[in-house]
Amino acid sequence: MNAQMNANADVTPLNARAQHFISQPRKVLIDGRWVSAKSGQTFDVFNPATGQRIAWAAACEKPDVDAAVAAARKAFDEGPWPRMTPSERGKIIWKIGDLIQTNLEELAQLESLDNGKPIVVARAADVPLAADLFHYMAGWATKIEGNTIALSVPYTPGAEYHAYTRKEPIGVVGQIIPWNFPLLMAAWKLGPALATGCTIVLKVAEETPLSGLRLAELCQEAGLPDGVLNVLTGFGETCGAPLAAHPQVDKVAFTGSTEVGKLIVKAAANDLKKVTLELGGKSPNIILDDADLDTAIPGAANAIFFNQGQCCCAGSRLFVHEKHYDKVVEGVAEFARNIRVGPGLDTRTQMGPLVSQIQFDRVSGFLRSGTEEGARALCGGNRAGTTGYFVEPTVLVDTTNDMKVYREEIFGPVVTASPFKDADADLLRRANDTTYGLAAGIYTRDIGKAHRIANKLRAGTVWINCYNIFDAALPFGGYKQSGWGREMGHDALNNYLETKAICAAI
Ligand code: ADP
Repeated sequence: MNAQMNANADVTPLNARAQHFISQPRKVLIDGRWVSAKSGQTFDVFNPATGQRIAWAAACEKPDVDAAVAAARKAFDEGPWPRMTPSERGKIIWKIGDLIQTNLEELAQLESLDNGKPIVVARAADVPLAADLFHYMAGWATKIEGNTIALSVPYTPGAEYHAYTRKEPIGVVGQIIPWNFPLLMAAWKLGPALATGCTIVLKVAEETPLSGLRLAELCQEAGLPDGVLNVLTGFGETCGAPLAAHPQVDKVAFTGSTEVGKLIVKAAANDLKKVTLELGGKSPNIILDDADLDTAIPGAANAIFFNQGQCCCAGSRLFVHEKHYDKVVEGVAEFARNIRVGPGLDTRTQMGPLVSQIQFDRVSGFLRSGTEEGARALCGGNRAGTTGYFVEPTVLVDTTNDMKVYREEIFGPVVTASPFKDADADLLRRANDTTYGLAAGIYTRDIGKAHRIANKLRAGTVWINCYNIFDAALPFGGYKQSGWGREMGHDALNNYLETKAICAAI
């Protein structure tokens, strides 16, 4: 059975502003000015629901990276941003959040068109969460504090000191983001960097450049001084790589695949710049024998199918107590069959296309390999429709822990399900048996057991009786090969601060 493909698509027409935004080749923001790539080259931006071109973006390369980094360097070394009062900075960041809210519909339409995600999701989640992130981080601008420290220096008996720490912005930050939540990933990166007084060169993903460019316009409108935020469009190897390796960049923050994360570390190693990484995942989602299945079944389905499965924290390995295994996997499969798959701009769509031909090919390859290795698709397993990059939501059973589909991040709407006997050490071993450690889920009515298991899961986020709950105040990031550092929450500020210890003899 196939998931339902939306027929007679009731596609939301783009509003005049979104239409205007995509009607001309998009330029990039360097030092407060909108400019073309120095080479004059552009690349096509595609609608993943049709595979057709919707816009053009500037193909920036090293000379553009050099210009953007020089602007950010000047803005940091000489400009007003790191020097203005935290309160003034906070007000501008707050205003960015307000402007995102004011322009919610346009941003949601651009996001849905560009990435393929359902417009109802972009309106309810991506755009409001991005606004909220800026509002949250605006408050931190005035609350970045060091400590006073009492010293006991043994080799200066009787001496007195006044010692304290200052938190200072790290400097020029290169930020490289992916295509799965283009606006929200930009917000997660920009918010803390701006709150701490850093200046930024942001490279958006080549698949989804539109909302990041529109956000840059809103940042200008909010009063961000020239050069504080520079936004580039271009490809990973020709634009991202020179940014990660640039000697004038003090820190690189990257979200994307673990494979590219390792390249970023190598590029940054040359001059030992600071690096934070938010990478892949293969997150376990555990349903215990006492779980409320009316919550757990849709919970497990949403954990994997949300955002077409293109979430680094997707609950892609489902573990179900053997007592409920058949009921749960059939329930998740039934949920999947009823998902309305269609173009993101159709308001009835619950699952859109994958973002690109490359991603479609990658996920299709995993589906083939699953079948070849002996897994069985309880539902899905194929392309949906004949145009665009649609894949059916898929539940794979009869999987073993040596299969590619079980071990590797698929980044598509594909979950592997396995039974377990008891919530014992073996379950924890299996749940933690992955090179990743981004997230995990537990469904149970036993709150004590839930917390005991949560403590033992090697993951940066554990959801209990829920999944995919995000908040600007809640830190997010990974153990093991899922990354370095945390985004959002108070923790995120540390990514962008240096600690200076000052010691005065008094
Ligand atoms: P995916 O494989 O899912 O497209 P990537 O990790 O390749 O995810 O891409 C995430 C971001 O990293 C994008 O902005 C992309 O352009 C960028 N990128 C890809 N390769 C490199 C690289 N070698 N150096 C720096 N950035 C890169």
